[in-house]
Amino acid sequence: MKIPVGILGATGMVGQRFIEILDNHPWFEINILAASPRSAGLKYEEAIKEKNTLKKNISEKILNLTVLEVESDAEKICEQVSFVFSALDLDKEKIKEIENNYASLGIPVVSNNSAHRWTPDIPMFIPEVNEEHTDLIPLQQKNRGWKKGFIVVKPNCSIQSYVPLLHALKDFEPEKAIVTTFQAISGAGKTFETWPEMIDNVIPYIQGEEEKSEKEPLKVWGKIKNAEIIPSSLPQISANCIRVPVSDGHLVSVNVLFKKKASQEEIINAWKNFNNPILKYNLPLSPKPCINYFVEDNRPQTKLDRNLQNGMGISVGRLRKDNIFDWKFVSLSHNTIRGAAGGAVLTAELLKAKGYLN
Ligand code: NAP
Repeated sequence: MKIPVGILGATGMVGQRFIEILDNHPWFEINILAASPRSAGLKYEEAIKEKNTLKKNISEKILNLTVLEVESDAEKICEQVSFVFSALDLDKEKIKEIENNYASLGIPVVSNNSAHRWTPDIPMFIPEVNEEHTDLIPLQQKNRGWKKGFIVVKPNCSIQSYVPLLHALKDFEPEKAIVTTFQAISGAGKTFETWPEMIDNVIPYIQGEEEKSEKEPLKVWGKIKNAEIIPSSLPQISANCIRVPVSDGHLVSVNVLFKKKASQEEIINAWKNFNNPILKYNLPLSPKPCINYFVEDNRPQTKLDRNLQNGMGISVGRLRKDNIFDWKFVSLSHNTIRGAAGGAVLTAELLKAKGYLN
């Protein structure tokens, strides 16, 4: 028996990635697709006609599902699913209201949105980094008087490209990092057809992104205290976020200073032998290995390497000495898979393996 699941915001770009990943998933089965009143009442295939970014063939059952309305159909949706993924694009306060409502109706919400990322009793997961933050779920339920429902979120798409790599080096105690991200246009929900100005262009600004890239890792590395996550104070991160003419894949250049000095061999070994704490759960989407180290000077590349391990792998290369900090490297992950829908599905798999989803 698969667990019935709904997708809120199913017609959007991230919603469509959820569908690609969940169609034929071994544990979860899509039962409900929901979106705005604009799409409600239409068959899914019809609702995405003008904005179809599906890269795979999807089963007829899903294409023929009638889209429901996220807000007015909430109770009906909750009767038919065990949990929901949220991929809405709305005003943040409205998203919080909607996600809180589903949790209060007894439905766990695994959210791709930023609305609740800084809510102290809501954990934010990169499963390989902070799986122990699931301990916050019963405390959150107690805080809010929710019996079965709860909310968890996944972080911003850019940080998946460097946080797991710095985490694998935690024995050397990273103290400072400068991260420069080169972010794909799908991160803005766009393609070259919908954003032709990006062809042959680079934009040195992504609204709100540098703050997220600097602060969200600290919550992921935080500790639970008094039913909240207290963010870590280290490493200090300074981010530059740049939009580049690439369809998918966020490449990052990282300069890092450690408290304990490490050799090149020790760093490569730490990545290659990363003790991935979620391997023991045998999660369907968990990439093996999680970290892919390249020796070639010209790797990782977005086009060649973003789809490693079905878009869930994290790749790294160009490890070399830094004249000011200790080491520098270049890393990559797929922003709409590992950084969005795939990261959220991996989080749900972790929750299921640990008994939080029925
Ligand atoms: P999108 O393509 O604009 O899709 C937005 C979705 O929200 C659609 O399903 C839309 O339904 C629905 N929606 C909008 N207004 C609504 C309303 N009033 N009531 C109910 N549903 C409503 O956006 P996206 O790129 O998929 O992004 C979704 C979220 O993920 C955003 O918060 C974004 O910041 C975040 N995110 C995106 C990426 C990425 O790489 N794209 C990565 C990480 C996080 P209709 O089709 O009916 O309008």
